[in-house]
Amino acid sequence: MAAGTPLPRLARLVAGARRLVVLTGAGISTESGIPDYRGGEEHWACYGADCFTYDAFVGSAEVRRRYWRAAREFFALARAAEPNRAHRALVELEREGVLDAVVTQNVDGLHRRAGHAPARLVEIHGTAEWIRCLGCRRRLPAVEVYAALGDGEAPACPDCGGILKPDVVMFNEWIPASVAAEAAARVDGADALLVVGSSLLVQPCASLATRAKDAGARVGIVNLSATPYDGEMDVIVRGKACDVLPRVLADVRRARIPA
Ligand code: NAD
Repeated sequence: MAAGTPLPRLARLVAGARRLVVLTGAGISTESGIPDYRGGEEHWACYGADCFTYDAFVGSAEVRRRYWRAAREFFALARAAEPNRAHRALVELEREGVLDAVVTQNVDGLHRRAGHAPARLVEIHGTAEWIRCLGCRRRLPAVEVYAALGDGEAPACPDCGGILKPDVVMFNEWIPASVAAEAAARVDGADALLVVGSSLLVQPCASLATRAKDAGARVGIVNLSATPYDGEMDVIVRGKACDVLPRVLADVRRARIPA
């Protein structure tokens, strides 16, 4: 890591980028009122850890019923939440022409609602805003499925009777190949990567940071706690996304005003 105060160095990293990619995790949404995974583990534990695993979900109607209770609670939280100052700062970086793409692990829809161009948003773990049939692959708006869903039920596909599942990637489930390839291509094309609000403990997303670094990109991390990769990266800012990103945006704008 280079010497100097982290925040100005992070702003220089962002302002100097030709193609900036931002990798976000649950921490960017905590200030919108959605608990992150590490902070929320105890909360979600009441549903039973097994119900977040793909094999258990597919294999047991009882697990599916528990999962749908948890999913309904998460969806209600996400719908009530609003994009925060950090989400909005990233949209402004896109409008400034600095940001190539946001690759997000989040499934809350807040980046989309903040206003990114769809082509610049890669939701690598899917989105809770849609429901997918595991049989015929039909996609249904979540809001309609939850409106018709009774408490303690697991819904079936109206077309084929197949298992319906929120269109999010569960533990032990493959990320769709096209989505994983898109995320990797964005990172490979970046000369700077900014990680925001991720523990970098969930693979394969976490490896995107080292992938970028190994390919010669500069990498900055904004996170409240340490990640396993901090020592290998260029700038680490220990702070809240809603404090840090608007300040980075302001510095980037200042750097772009001709003297
Ligand atoms: P994580 O919970 O493992 O880590 C979040 C990190 O964010 C922590 O290291 C924490 O210190 C940091 N953090 C918390 N609030 C912050 C803030 N205001 N500013 C800066 N940093 C902050 O999250 P992850 O790495 O994204 O992995 C968890 C998995 O759970 C992901 O797959 C994600 O899809 C899923 N998840 C998503 C949501 C969501 O969509 N909002 C919420 C919970 C979990």
